[in-house]
Amino acid sequence: MSIRIARIDKTYGAKGPGQTRALEPIDLDIHDGELIGLLGPSGSGKTTLLRIVAGLEQADSGSIHFGERDVTRVHVRDRRIGFVFQHYALFRHMSVYDNVAFGLNALPRRERPSTEEIRSRVMQLLEMVRLQAFAKRFPAQLSGGQQQRVALARALALKPDVLLLDEPFGALDAKVRQELRRWLRHLHEELHFTSLFVTHDQEEALELSDRVVVMSNGRIEQIATPDTLYRQPANRFVFEFLGDINRLEGDVEREVLTCGNARIAVPGIASGRHELLLRPHEISLATQASDRAHLPVTVSAIVPVGAEVRLELEADWLGEPWLATIGHEAFERLDITRGKRLFALPSQLHRFDAAQPTTLIPATAS
Ligand code: ADP
Ligand code: MG
Repeated sequence: MSIRIARIDKTYGAKGPGQTRALEPIDLDIHDGELIGLLGPSGSGKTTLLRIVAGLEQADSGSIHFGERDVTRVHVRDRRIGFVFQHYALFRHMSVYDNVAFGLNALPRRERPSTEEIRSRVMQLLEMVRLQAFAKRFPAQLSGGQQQRVALARALALKPDVLLLDEPFGALDAKVRQELRRWLRHLHEELHFTSLFVTHDQEEALELSDRVVVMSNGRIEQIATPDTLYRQPANRFVFEFLGDINRLEGDVEREVLTCGNARIAVPGIASGRHELLLRPHEISLATQASDRAHLPVTVSAIVPVGAEVRLELEADWLGEPWLATIGHEAFERLDITRGKRLFALPSQLHRFDAAQPTTLIPATAS
């Protein structure tokens, strides 16, 4: 089922200083069968948008279509939606089986499948989330991850066209979260519903989504595939939100940016004050400056993390320390210890102060 969100906006509270504009007019087209991640910091309007799509909240204006059907004024119960929220909200006094069967049992008599059909559908769902052996247990006898799988099965029992998830794995530890993401992906591909998934975790959004919608302050900053989002962020906010960044601010004159005793060639950049940004993996380190970049730094902290080594770099020309991630091979070759003086060589620099974001690729190593 495709979803068309057109000019949806929402302000909470009466006119006055306490009023909150939760959503500016939002447009979003979701294709049939897509898994869309809504990503943004806390307070950016993700839950509000999800609740409006669900019919749990009314927008001030705008419309929502499911396929050809205008559901803007349709009651939540008639929208054919499944929900999963962060706090499992399973019925604690009901068994796993009864939790999953709840929506089917609650249908009006003429729509309700027979007891046998309900049984077979519930067992099939429990099998899908690998909990058939737990049908008689109560929620308190399950781990957090298992409870969330029950919530997923329960949400799917009524064969929804649309599945809405609000930070569904937020309360779980990293490993379980990883496993549940795979579950969701798998179910999504098997059952072909359309999903809208809220998260503030960029890794989760990038890993799970067909397309990611990045929000801030009630606005959509960018809609793109994970790959495009990471490689071609539309603006500084998106770039900064999707990972660690390092800043370099200084004055450009004759295509060279200077900041204290640091300099770097910035071909094509006009004279004046500029801010350049780069990711930790876009820095390599050397014992000498190159003819394009003279960026002296001191290693102030070393953290080996898996395949890479994370370094904190300090220099008097840096406002705040830089983070660099380098391979173990380079780490050993350069014989890096705390206090070591080295030179940073950026492989790329990003600039967002222009109308169009630009990426500069300075020649590294001389
Ligand atoms: P997110 O899910 O991205 O954290 P929300 O949609 O929950 O963001 O909130 C967006 C903004 O609207 C926030 O500033 C929040 O404080 C405000 N808000 C959300 N729900 C209500 C409400 N029921 N009444 C008043 N303000 C609200
Ligand atoms: Mg929220």
